[in-house]
Amino acid sequence: MSVFDVTFWGVRGTVPTPGGDNAVFGGNTSCVQVDCGGRTLIFDAGTGIYPLGEHLVHKDIDILFSHTHIDHIMGLPFFSGIYDPDYQVDIWAGHLSPNGKIESVVRTLMQPPLFPLTLEDLKAQIRFHDFIAGEYISHPKFDEAGIEIRTLPLNHPDRATAYRVNCDGKSVCYVTDVEHRDDTSDKALVDFIRGTDVFIYDSTFDDHDFERFRGWGHSTWQHAIRLGNDAGVDQVVLFHHDPGMNDEALDVRAKQAEFMRENTIVAREGLTLHLLERKGLTLHAKS
Ligand SMILES: [Zn+2]
Ligand SMILES: [Zn+2]
Repeated sequence: MSVFDVTFWGVRGTVPTPGGDNAVFGGNTSCVQVDCGGRTLIFDAGTGIYPLGEHLVHKDIDILFSHTHIDHIMGLPFFSGIYDPDYQVDIWAGHLSPNGKIESVVRTLMQPPLFPLTLEDLKAQIRFHDFIAGEYISHPKFDEAGIEIRTLPLNHPDRATAYRVNCDGKSVCYVTDVEHRDDTSDKALVDFIRGTDVFIYDSTFDDHDFERFRGWGHSTWQHAIRLGNDAGVDQVVLFHHDPGMNDEALDVRAKQAEFMRENTIVAREGLTLHLLERKGLTLHAKS
């Protein structure tokens, strides 16, 4: 039976905020697993990729980076798959070309004195792929699986890439990190996410104090809902939470968001959305 599942392993922006007042929504930084077409796609390698590594079924996987700010890449050296000779790991990024390469970023991250091992110490078969945000990601393995991956450049310092995955008549959009330019929805982004089933969006801030944070490269939960309305998406998922927001504050945000737009949720670690079962979701214990 085919599945199209979206699982959240890290939902926090900027810096990990483990335990305490953040235990319910979780403190790991960005990492989202998408299972569809019989394959596993991993969006970003924040610290959430560490627990994800203990739960993977497929050994032929793809890691697609929104960008390479530290909160989105810091978990990669601790992802067990890259040390397993049975793994094939394809790593994709669209924000560096034509001037940079994802391999050189990972090489910089994994070298003494930042980390004791280098790329040459990895046991998995690793392949690096640079593309230009805005292109379709084309590869025979995606074609064979019936997976279509579209991308879009985002307004963020050092740039970032949005992804849309279409498979089995369903779709998910992963859109972080991004700063909206005004209260009018960005037309290219609205077209990109139009009609999607699940729209995951950088909701770091609140409209009420957004002006203070102009230029930081992030958006607001209210703008997530405006985009969701303009594009007719089914479910809006607020993501990349401000590390200063504890469980109580995110609970309040969840109620406000649900009130403003039905079927809007705040992402939390351990949540799986089942796109092929209408409105299905499960929550499993965090590890
Ligand atoms: Zn971030
Ligand atoms: Zn960033």
